[in-house]
Amino acid sequence: MQPIPRQHSANNSAAVNPDPVPGEPGCVFIKPPFTDFPGSAEQKPKTGLTYNILAAHPDWFLDVKDFVGPNAVVYPSQLEPPRGWCPTKKKDAKDGWKEGEEPRLRCTLCRRQYAGVNAKSMWRRHVYEKHGIPMANRRETNERPSGRGGRGSNSEYLLSLLSKFPSTDIFCS
Ligand SMILES: [Zn+2]
Repeated sequence: MQPIPRQHSANNSAAVNPDPVPGEPGCVFIKPPFTDFPGSAEQKPKTGLTYNILAAHPDWFLDVKDFVGPNAVVYPSQLEPPRGWCPTKKKDAKDGWKEGEEPRLRCTLCRRQYAGVNAKSMWRRHVYEKHGIPMANRRETNERPSGRGGRGSNSEYLLSLLSKFPSTDIFCS
């Protein structure tokens, strides 16, 4: 009789899950309208939640479900990485950042982080592709962010124009 070697399943789950789950110990999920969060009562200028506040609290998250689906709110621009998020990159980064010391942009919905000069666009792309949330100034048609193939929305828009104007001479120059 061979004893079945028991895998310590804890070994596998010890790594931090990049995707926080509501109710996870230590995690705070902040809901729209993003004015109610730990310390918000004492906030001096009551600006509500900002990206920088979230950046300072890696265990605070936004809930994806608030930005997709029938009751979705538009992702607030003040929760996007601000302009100049990497203020020292021109001065100090001539030799590049040391490993682990470079400024990082965290995702506000999960634990992923992005660094480097393209961090902000990688961030936006991640939020859009992984979480299905387009930024407000993305010039999407703002219909259903969950739909796949955002690239097709332009042609759909053109098609809808075409159907509104049956005599389409204007498109045949
Ligand atoms: Zn994320």
